[in-house]
Amino acid sequence: MLVHREHLLGLFGSLLTFYRKGALFFYVFYGYYWLINTPDIEDLKDFLRIPSVSGVSNHIGDVRNAAQFLASHLKKIGFPYTEIVQTSGNPIVFAEWIVSIEKPTVFIYGHYDVQPVGDLSLWVSPPFEPEIRNGNIYARGASDNKGQLWIHITLLDALVKAKGSLPFNVKIVIDGEEEIGSPNFLSFLKSYKERLDADFVLISDTAMLSEDQPSVCVGLRGLLGFDIIVDGPSKDLPSGLYGGAVQNPIHALIELLQSMKDKHGRITINDFYNEVVPITNQERKEMRSLHVDDEKIAEQLGVPALFGEFGFSTVERQWIRPTIEVNGISGGNNQTTLRMSHVGLCLIRDLSKYLN
Ligand SMILES: [Zn+2]
Repeated sequence: MLVHREHLLGLFGSLLTFYRKGALFFYVFYGYYWLINTPDIEDLKDFLRIPSVSGVSNHIGDVRNAAQFLASHLKKIGFPYTEIVQTSGNPIVFAEWIVSIEKPTVFIYGHYDVQPVGDLSLWVSPPFEPEIRNGNIYARGASDNKGQLWIHITLLDALVKAKGSLPFNVKIVIDGEEEIGSPNFLSFLKSYKERLDADFVLISDTAMLSEDQPSVCVGLRGLLGFDIIVDGPSKDLPSGLYGGAVQNPIHALIELLQSMKDKHGRITINDFYNEVVPITNQERKEMRSLHVDDEKIAEQLGVPALFGEFGFSTVERQWIRPTIEVNGISGGNNQTTLRMSHVGLCLIRDLSKYLN
C-alpha cells in the first residue's frame, strides 16, 4: 500500500514524542520536502521486482541483488559511506552520512527481505510485478517493508536535491533477515555499536490503525517461542490393544494446554502476571479514544466474535496485555497408535517495564 503524505506528516509530527535536540527542525524539513517533491515511483518498482525472499534458499542470489541495489541507490543519492556487511546469513546494508557533529543524528532501520509468496493462484497480479490499483501499489513486500523504507530513502534524496546535502546526520541499517527472525542482527549491532549512536531511531515496520489514521508505535510486546513435547510409550502402541491401559500423550498434552488459560481468557499459570506492569488510566483513556470497532475487526477476521482476557478491551489485549498462544499442534499418525504429541507455543509478554 502506498503511504499517503498526510500519514507521513502525522508520523513525523509524532517524532516530537521522542524529543531530543533538533526534533522540530527534523520534522519540518523532512515533511516539507516530501510535500514539494514528487517521488519517482520507478525505482521503487525496480526494488519490488527483486524477489528477495529470505526464508527460501533458492532466493539467495536475489537477496544479495536487493542488498546491492540498495547500496548502489544510497551511493547514487550521495551517501559517502555505504557498506554491504556480510554475516553468516544474508547481508546487512549500512550507510552513513555525517554532515556535521553539531547536527542531530537520525538512525533509520528497515528490511529488504520479504515473505514467501504462498499460493500464486491467490494473487491478483504477480507478486514480483508491481501493479498500481486504486492508488495502491501491490507486490510482495510493498507494505512490509520495501514501501516504507523507500519513503525514507526518497525523502533523503529529495532533501539532498533541494539543499545539496542533508540537514542532519543519517545512519541507515537495512536488514536482510527480518522475516526469519534476524538471526544475525544482534551480532551486527554488537560489532557496530559505536558507529550506530544516534539521537533518534526511526522505524516504519509496524502497523497503521487504518488507511486514514496515522499511527506511531511507541512500544511492542516481546515474544518467546518454545515447543512442548509430551513423550509417552517407547514405541507405537495399537490403541485397540493398549487404549485405556496407558496415558495417551495427546490427551495429556491437551489437558496441559487446557490448564494454561481459563474460560475468561486469563492465564492460570502460577505467578504469570507477577511482573506485568498494570495499565494506567491515562493509557486506557488514550486507547479508548482510538474508537476501535470490535464488530468491524471480527468481520475482517472472519470470526463470529472476538475473544480474550476478560476486563480488557481489544487493543489493550493486543498491545499491552501478555498472552500465550498455541501456534501448531501435532501428534499420533491418524491411525490406531499412540505414542508422542507435540505443540508449538509462543509466549507474548509486556516488556514495558524494561523501557524506562
Ligand atoms: Zn517488516
